[in-house]
Amino acid sequence: MFEHYSFTAAGRFMRYVQIDTQSDPQSATQPSTEKQKDLSRILVEELQAMGIADAHMDEWGYVYATLPSTVEKEVPVICFCSHVDTAPDASGTGVKPILHRNYTGGDIVLPDDPSVVIRSSDFPYLEQLKGHDLITASGTTLLGADDKAGVAGIMDAAHFLMTHPEVKHGKIRILFTPDEEVGRGTARVDMQKLGAQFGYTLDGGEAGSLEDETFSADAVTIVINGVITHPGYAKHKLVNALKIGGELLARLPKSELSPETTEGRQGFIHPVRFEGIAERCVLEFIIRDFDTALLRPKEEFLRALTELVVESHPGASYEFTITEQYRNMKEVLDQHPQVVAHAREAIRRAGLSLRMESIRGGTDGSRLSFMGMPCPNLFTGMQGIHSMKEFVSVQDMNKAVETIVHLCCIWAE
Ligand SMILES: [Zn+2]
Repeated sequence: MFEHYSFTAAGRFMRYVQIDTQSDPQSATQPSTEKQKDLSRILVEELQAMGIADAHMDEWGYVYATLPSTVEKEVPVICFCSHVDTAPDASGTGVKPILHRNYTGGDIVLPDDPSVVIRSSDFPYLEQLKGHDLITASGTTLLGADDKAGVAGIMDAAHFLMTHPEVKHGKIRILFTPDEEVGRGTARVDMQKLGAQFGYTLDGGEAGSLEDETFSADAVTIVINGVITHPGYAKHKLVNALKIGGELLARLPKSELSPETTEGRQGFIHPVRFEGIAERCVLEFIIRDFDTALLRPKEEFLRALTELVVESHPGASYEFTITEQYRNMKEVLDQHPQVVAHAREAIRRAGLSLRMESIRGGTDGSRLSFMGMPCPNLFTGMQGIHSMKEFVSVQDMNKAVETIVHLCCIWAE
């Protein structure tokens, strides 16, 4: 299908990364930064230029577009989704993408700051990329492959399908979201308007990887109330909430159950914020596990520890609140096994070996899955994300385009 076709994903990518789309966790607006729309507007123009008449951006910065079906029969509507924003962890202003043709191995020194070196020892995947063309940033910014590699892949697949009407596929919906990196990527998605039965996010790493599992996630907020008096006359009266909070943190397990002591499929209890005054303090935790049923025992452990510590300070009291954040998408995907099965087949047809992976975090796909659109995560090739050492292989990006096109065909077979 692709013999005489040259992909343009890399060219698109080089253009998109130069547009600053950094999101801002401190902002309450939607999208969190207005500049994200700068890229979204360009995507709409390019989609329209391909002949996709309904491509548009809504007031919240979401881009929707439809590739019409090329088959007579009814087939499920499939959505491909990527996020336009880049992470707040490193600057996204003035990104200068550099194309390194025919990578021959070894470390890559970035010219604008030679202390930034992409080391093959830090990225074992580089070994597999010898002979590829790599794209990096210049050393002072992130690259934004997360997730503009996904955006470019979907755009190029759309271009391929619009210029190859002989390729048989059903109706395809395209969705570009803002603010994924600040956890609000799905906040304003209109699922009814989207109208897709199944979806795929393009927000994954190594070529051939397919992620069908995320953490299940809860948040716990603990409020500790002390007893306040004038400190000069406080003997046997004052109970300092800050000290109780500090004691609680100090008694968390040191060799297990934390992000810094776990990996693979292990879950954790992680304090993320501690603030207050002597009278009252608030501790925020995130609780994570792949198995939703294993969140509760972690929360009960934390509650029991809080009880124990607070009890030893007569007069003090506490409130303990659990909030659901998101759930492992596998719970939904297992009810629709064809979604992952078709992705596996598409990766096979693209000539790649499949790598099934679990995400020690959440994706927009986990939320979309629970909003009614089962949605695993496909690879884009991005590496070293959220840092100045970010890079992506042109050949991997093209494989992502091929995988998308194969997927569209498989759903129509
Ligand atoms: Zn991402």
